Amino acid sequence: MTRHVTTDVAVLGAGVIGLAVAERLLAEGRTVTLVDPGDPGMGTSYGNAGTIADYAVNPVGTPDVLRALPTLLFDRTSPLAIRREALPSLLPWLLRFAFQSLPGPARHNGLAIAALLQGAGPLWQGLADRIGAAGILQPRGALYLYETAAQRRAAEADMAGRRALGVTVDLLNGPELAQLEPALPSMAGAAYFPKAVFLNDPGAMMRALAARVTAKAEHLRAPAQTLSRTADGVIVEGPGFRLHARRVVIAAGAHSRKLAAQAGDRVPLDTERGYHVEWDMAAPRLSRPCCPTARGFYLCPMSGRLRAVGTVELGGLTLPPSAHRIRKLVEGARAIFPDLPENPDRDWMGFRPSLPDSLPVIGPSRGGPEVIHAYGHGHLGVTLAPVTARIVADLIAGRMPEMDIASLRPGRF
Ligand SMILES: Cc1cc2nc3c(=O)[nH]c(=O)nc-3n(C[C@H](O)[C@H](O)[C@H](O)COP(=O)(O)OP(=O)(O)OC[C@H]3O[C@@H](n4cnc5c(N)ncnc54)[C@H](O)[C@@H]3O)c2cc1C
Repeated sequence: MTRHVTTDVAVLGAGVIGLAVAERLLAEGRTVTLVDPGDPGMGTSYGNAGTIADYAVNPVGTPDVLRALPTLLFDRTSPLAIRREALPSLLPWLLRFAFQSLPGPARHNGLAIAALLQGAGPLWQGLADRIGAAGILQPRGALYLYETAAQRRAAEADMAGRRALGVTVDLLNGPELAQLEPALPSMAGAAYFPKAVFLNDPGAMMRALAARVTAKAEHLRAPAQTLSRTADGVIVEGPGFRLHARRVVIAAGAHSRKLAAQAGDRVPLDTERGYHVEWDMAAPRLSRPCCPTARGFYLCPMSGRLRAVGTVELGGLTLPPSAHRIRKLVEGARAIFPDLPENPDRDWMGFRPSLPDSLPVIGPSRGGPEVIHAYGHGHLGVTLAPVTARIVADLIAGRMPEMDIASLRPGRF
């Protein structure tokens, strides 16, 4: 039997983006219906590194990455990998990515990311306070670790570039790092981002956010399959429901491409798959997220466990997780902490929703403003969730967003 539902705003996808958007809209007094086949917040938004990474102003594609791309992609030990089976379908995305890595586009993308990141920390603080989850937000900074003197020297130019984009960062030597994180082995130094905050349990934050939202919004537990416009809104249909909404927000993360196409927008959305492994322990050794940059993952002190999390695998949405990538993550963590057991307590894979320019798609559909896009946040979806929510709420209310969103529009490609 088909349920007929009428709503003011339908939010398609209940990851961190959809939930943050729904929370903001409910706070503004709107009637919201969530559509998601799964438990809210338990997809990619559950298993990440939890960093509110307002220091991460560099796009993934830069001239340095472009130069190293052939080695990075085909070296099985590198933190960036490609699944050969997926290469034909990934080629168009990779070509766009190569173009976006050229000096001009990369500079433009860095500026746009820096503008988006402004205020992410305070917006998260406000969100966490509103949903009663401030204890999960830890104001203890974040570290990039340099295991060799050459890595630390090479970081100087990178950090100068970040400072120019407004990031606060201190370069530390080995003893200064040891004072901050005494459990780490001796290293050449680190970059310390003192203003960064992190979620020491992204899953718990998602549950708190989902509880707040579903207390007021109905959750239709099924996938949105079709979108069609009517004279006064949009019809969204899926198994067992037909939803009439005045406005629709597409927020299905890496799964948004088909819905976007139905709204009339072709976007080159793909996925950068990432992994985590966890070891349960009462005191997870570190005080803040630490990223040994050459290894491409973070070691994160989560509540009751140490999470090694990151790496990038280009492999699409359907291939199974790679046992090789999981093993590499375990080996990398054990290179820092050799006494960690060879078999972690659990492992996980998630889908970063990624555009070739490392910018999300946020803004009205080309087909009409009753559909709003809000996906493609790549490595920064958690960080940018409340920023995105503010922009979407402004668009729906007919207010001018505080920042220029031209670089984020769905029709930019
Ligand atoms: C290893 C790793 C580490 C990361 N670390 C960080 C970090 O430290 N900081 C940071 O800011 N970001 C980080 N990220 C990125 C961040 O996790 C993502 O950008 C973010 O979770 C994306 O959120 P989302 O809501 O767009 O997507 P998701 O969390 O994937 O949610 C999408 C939702 O849409 C639903 N859905 C799918 N299809 C449909 C449909 N047809 N109809 C309705 N619903 C649908 C899914 O069920 C899902 O619930 C990391 C990612 C990974 C993989």
